[in-house]
Amino acid sequence: MSSTEPHPAEPGSGLRVLVLEDNAADAMVAQAAVARAGRGTSTVLRAETVVEALRILASDTVHLVLLDLNVPDSRGMATLRRVRGATRCPIIVVTAEDRPGLDEEALDEGAFEILHKGKLGAETIARLLRLAEGQRRTQELLEGTERVAREELRRSEARFRSLTELSSDWFWEQDAALCFTYLSPGFAARSGGDPARILGSKRWEFEEVVPASGAWADHRAVLEARQPFRDFEQISTRADGTRLYLSSSGEPVYDAAGEFTGYRGVSSNITVRKNAEEKLAQLAQFDAVTGLPNRNLLQERLDHAIAQAQRRGRGAGVLFADLDRFKLVNDTHGHDVGDELLVLVGKRLKACMRRDDTVARVGGDEFAVVIADLARPDDAALVAQKILDSFAAPFDLGGKEAFITASIGVAAFPNDGADADSLLKCADVAMYRAKESSRNTFCFYTAEMNARAASKLQLNTDLRRAVERGEFTLHYQPKVNLATEEMIGMEALLRWQHAERGMVPPLEFIPALEDSGLIHAVGDWVVAAACRQLSEWQRAGLQVAPVAVNLSAKQFRRRDLDQVIHRLLAEHGISPALLELEITESSLMADPKDAIRQLHALREAGLRISVDDFGTGYSSLSYLTRLPLSTLKIDRVFVNAATTEPASAAIVKMVIDMAQRLNFDVVAEGIETEQHVAFLRQHGCGQGQGYHFGRPIPAEAIASRMLRRG
Ligand code: C2E
Ligand code: MG
Ligand code: MG
Repeated sequence: MSSTEPHPAEPGSGLRVLVLEDNAADAMVAQAAVARAGRGTSTVLRAETVVEALRILASDTVHLVLLDLNVPDSRGMATLRRVRGATRCPIIVVTAEDRPGLDEEALDEGAFEILHKGKLGAETIARLLRLAEGQRRTQELLEGTERVAREELRRSEARFRSLTELSSDWFWEQDAALCFTYLSPGFAARSGGDPARILGSKRWEFEEVVPASGAWADHRAVLEARQPFRDFEQISTRADGTRLYLSSSGEPVYDAAGEFTGYRGVSSNITVRKNAEEKLAQLAQFDAVTGLPNRNLLQERLDHAIAQAQRRGRGAGVLFADLDRFKLVNDTHGHDVGDELLVLVGKRLKACMRRDDTVARVGGDEFAVVIADLARPDDAALVAQKILDSFAAPFDLGGKEAFITASIGVAAFPNDGADADSLLKCADVAMYRAKESSRNTFCFYTAEMNARAASKLQLNTDLRRAVERGEFTLHYQPKVNLATEEMIGMEALLRWQHAERGMVPPLEFIPALEDSGLIHAVGDWVVAAACRQLSEWQRAGLQVAPVAVNLSAKQFRRRDLDQVIHRLLAEHGISPALLELEITESSLMADPKDAIRQLHALREAGLRISVDDFGTGYSSLSYLTRLPLSTLKIDRVFVNAATTEPASAAIVKMVIDMAQRLNFDVVAEGIETEQHVAFLRQHGCGQGQGYHFGRPIPAEAIASRMLRRG
């Protein structure tokens, strides 16, 4: 045992005792007692004032303080309080006072013991030194543990910091109001984004971030219930428009008292994975060679088209197109050229379709087309024919021309099936039939549809030929003043003199003319023919009455209609006052805003405009008053029934009344009997037209009803 290693049996060895005492004699007594009790191994430090004592305590280690309450710079308990604040070692108050209650007061202020100055014996001091010794050991032990704990804390903080720095994830805490603090700010710099902007600084609800899985409402419920959450996916759109996908997990945090203090969690950037998934999804839905949708996506689009058609009460169609002799191209020119051809075919197919339709590649040389919306299921035939026609032009294969044909199978909803699977099967079967029959052709799944399609196509071919061969003529029906029964005008009605079918009525071919676009050529012909006829009659010296021609909806939508008509009138030297235009109420109301523009243009060209078949088109009355119209023609179904059905009679009366109020002329169509005439006259209808006054007849025949001039 060395002298530097104090033994507990020798109280006070190595201890440092501070004696705060201004009285030198008292200090000596205390000093001597300490020296005796510690057998010279203890050190005594002396202070005469509190200031001095505090300086020593700040710079030296002290294990025990003997303190006199009254020193020059401090008195009473204040002395004890000030020293107490500067050390943790035991403080012994040594006092000459003997006031009752002093002991309690001093003990309350943190003194360990109160000694009377007269009782400062070595024995007492030895006991106190032993106490200080014990206290010192505890202190040293505590300090050691604290140091270790502090070191441990420092190390774990450093570990946390370096891990959060290295991690590609964001660590965060949220307070009870769920506002964020980011614990890994270094990551922001590396990821090129401010976490506060990307994850939001306030809560989970902010503009830039939307949930990628689940809904905010669900997530909010989790947060409100203070439950942990795992892998909550979010999308954040950066300022440059790129998207960042995050996956966040968090758990609630509670303090020692069990109070909820917020969430702690981590968010991972999963953009790379998400992009890869999207890419895979793209691969799963698109064909690699042509970039067109593959069979999977086709099926999806067809399902969608069917659902939509069902809702709207319309048709939808699917075509299967198989290239004829594609194998030959592959065998003679190689697969690269074959692939090139497939791309070109895909492009050509797309060019035949509308934007909402889908062109897909479903096999080697097989393509499929979804026609999203069909007015009539048989109209799918028109699309099939359009595709076959588009294949008439050669394909350019690296400078070489190749002629390719296709065989097409057609299936239509709802006729051939009510779901994607059955429609695709039907189209497939139909395609094989097309191949067997002659190639470069199309075939419907059902015989009935085939027959209808065939006659429709035949009609189109015949109509085209009718234009070329001049098979159209005009018949004229007189329009009379109902009061005098005098002819005051005529309506020109189109007739088709078909080589085999004889006279074909307009309602059988006008829709086909509209569908094929031939209506423009034929419509122009009608106006020109009427003008020609008028000028012929004028040259023959007849007193001509105005002629009304009918315009179809498609013609009416033509932007340059007024110019076309104006030119035709000028060419034949006819005054615009001699030409009237009839537009059905339904085509007028299809796009009322555009109709206003078009009508004004026609009106400026000096033409009179009648609304045909009035009463059938659900006119918006507010529009009607704003349209520059001259005449309403009451539809013949109402006129015909006016004398037998009260409802029709009411409609006829109402239209007459309204026309008068709006200052329009009113013409009753389809007058067939004397009773009709009487009814109309009685209710003030000014003009009429119908079999009763004359059927539509050829130009030569109607001329006999005109008077000579002069
Ligand atoms: P619309 O313009 O309402 O023509 C009147 C139709 O009623 C004519 O039929 C006419 O023959 C018929 N009609 C006239 N009086 C009577 C009658 O007393 N009783 C009965 N039952 N019918 C009568 P049409 O010639 O068959 O024409 C039918 C429709 O075809 C026309 O109806 C018109 O919408 C359209 N149309 C005729 N020619 C042309 C044309 O050149 N271009 C266009 N876009 N459409 C035309
Ligand atoms: Mg008409
Ligand atoms: Mg009519």
